[in-house]
Amino acid sequence: MATYNLLFLPGDGIGQEVMREVEKIADWTQKAGIASFEIERGLVGGAAYDAHGKAISDSDMALASASDAVIFGAVGGPKWDNVPYDVRPEAGLLRLRKDLGLFANLRPAICYPALADASSLKREIVEGLDIMIVRELTGGVYFGEPKQIIDLGNGQKRGIDTQVYDTYEIERIGRVAFELARKRNNKVTSSEKRNVMKSGVLWNEVITALHKREFADVTLEHQLADALGMQLVRWPKQFDVIVTDNLFGDMLSDVASMLTGSLGMLPSASLGETDPKTGKRKSMYEPVHGSAPDIAGKGLANPIAMIASFAMALRYSFGLGDAADRIEKAIADVLDAGLRTADIRGDAKETISTSQMGDAILAQLQKAG
Ligand code: NAD
Repeated sequence: MATYNLLFLPGDGIGQEVMREVEKIADWTQKAGIASFEIERGLVGGAAYDAHGKAISDSDMALASASDAVIFGAVGGPKWDNVPYDVRPEAGLLRLRKDLGLFANLRPAICYPALADASSLKREIVEGLDIMIVRELTGGVYFGEPKQIIDLGNGQKRGIDTQVYDTYEIERIGRVAFELARKRNNKVTSSEKRNVMKSGVLWNEVITALHKREFADVTLEHQLADALGMQLVRWPKQFDVIVTDNLFGDMLSDVASMLTGSLGMLPSASLGETDPKTGKRKSMYEPVHGSAPDIAGKGLANPIAMIASFAMALRYSFGLGDAADRIEKAIADVLDAGLRTADIRGDAKETISTSQMGDAILAQLQKAG
């Protein structure tokens, strides 16, 4: 049984509550003989600020770099609204993404049949939906220079952001998308705005060339980002893997998230380059939701997004796809049995707490053997 190094960073608010439920599932993974873990625990966000005056300490960053995967809860909360900008809770998350070189953000949008009525779209549009959005995470308009506001001296100001992509950045995110598609339904939809943006023209050219050169067995289609936004709510089941840039990916993945019902259901993975020597890649797994200060400490948080993020770690960092399937099946079975936290209550008469949901998923895993 292989041993992997994990760094658990629960963070703030419900991050800490949902991480406790992941501990139960990690323990099951070990007891079931699937993998063993050396687990370190660190601080990030407001919790790290309170302890060290930083959003993440250098020693915890070193642990993150040395780990096989970081399992991250959530950061932030009103308590830290007025701390200096460079040590605000989110700075810890951004440093992890930047220093670990996590350029590929994977956000699956899966609609469990039992929750199809929680979506804002009709059941037949979303039931059984299973798509993967691959968003470029470290380039594009969020990071391009110049990025500034200039005073024009005539009572006017000018705000400037720069959308910039180099060939290698497009190729490496494209490669992640094509490789994922091969393990799913073998289709990639690449999205940009080549009709109005030069970076979109290059994006389209590079993805097309990469496809021809290395992934001709995968079906590739291109959709302009605005049209894709429309298609996502019209007929989302036409998609398998969607690959797009940082800005469009930010928006489109939020749209896709609403197809599935609740923020409490959405996991994510962020991956770096594969090290050619070790074959390993830096990675971080986190729920899409934040620290939810409105429900923190009340046992109301849904731990499914966090547990499903751990399942993604098993699949994408450790090649344990079967174990990930078992966890996802246990989640589906628990939902089919009608168990609900408050956020996915629907018509349910009763709801269960964060730890009861974690226990129910664990019990289902143990029962399934
Ligand atoms: P949020 O995701 O924390 O909460 C939005 C709404 O969804 C709230 O009503 C919350 O109760 C609910 N919700 C979220 N996760 C849930 C879960 N697992 N179970 C049940 N309900 C859940 O977003 P927000 O309120 O905009 O932000 C709160 C704080 O979190 C802010 O400080 C923000 O900066 C931070 N934040 C952090 C991250 C992150 O750590 N990755 C992401 C988003 C927001």
